[in-house]
Amino acid sequence: MDLILFGMQGAGKGTIGKAIAEKYNLQIFETGGALRALSQEDSELARKVKSIIEVGHLVPNDVVMEIVENFLSKLPQGTNILFDGIPRKVEQAESLNALLKKNGRAYRAVLLDISEETALKRLTTRRICKVCKTIYPADFTGEKCTALINGATCNGELITRSDDNPEAILTRLKAFRDETLPAMELYKDGMIKINGEANIEEVEKLAFEELDKIL
Ligand code: AMP
Repeated sequence: MDLILFGMQGAGKGTIGKAIAEKYNLQIFETGGALRALSQEDSELARKVKSIIEVGHLVPNDVVMEIVENFLSKLPQGTNILFDGIPRKVEQAESLNALLKKNGRAYRAVLLDISEETALKRLTTRRICKVCKTIYPADFTGEKCTALINGATCNGELITRSDDNPEAILTRLKAFRDETLPAMELYKDGMIKINGEANIEEVEKLAFEELDKIL
């Protein structure tokens, strides 16, 4: 079974999603990451996507859905997915559900629940590793990434994401309120809600307790 992970920006979808994917052997589809990768290419589309991400607006649905279809078409048989960052609006929920149905895939929705106040605080203070994209909260005072990759410390430089600036953050939170919340409504039956306010270890524990019941 696939999981569709919802949560406001800063809810911990990346970090907790990774832990969930490791424990339950799911392949992550990280929409923002896939779009950031696309934005680095040398094409008209890439430049358009980059400019949209930088101001915090949503990338057009057809672009996003093409990436998802491509991802699904390359997925080894029997692999379950954790969708992170999709759907972000009602139209996208409809496209995604149709695609999952066509591919005979079952899913459950999971919400990492935080307040807008917590989201703002986390987004304005977090840093991200330039190399492996691990996220570091405000209370991490080091300058280099301490994540272990294939047994070696990553040591990547910690930077602020280009769309973690106050204006783009407010735009992204508004997009969540206006567009993603109505899309989330479509999944409210059977949605697994996890309180995401506590520290990572605590939220991870809550998530595993709930997911152990269904996976
Ligand atoms: P994220 O890493 O999830 O915060 O996403 C970063 C940015 O990528 C967002 O602010 C949007 O510009 C874009 N993005 C991510 N997911 C989607 C999506 N499902 N639909 C449209 N745009 C998206």
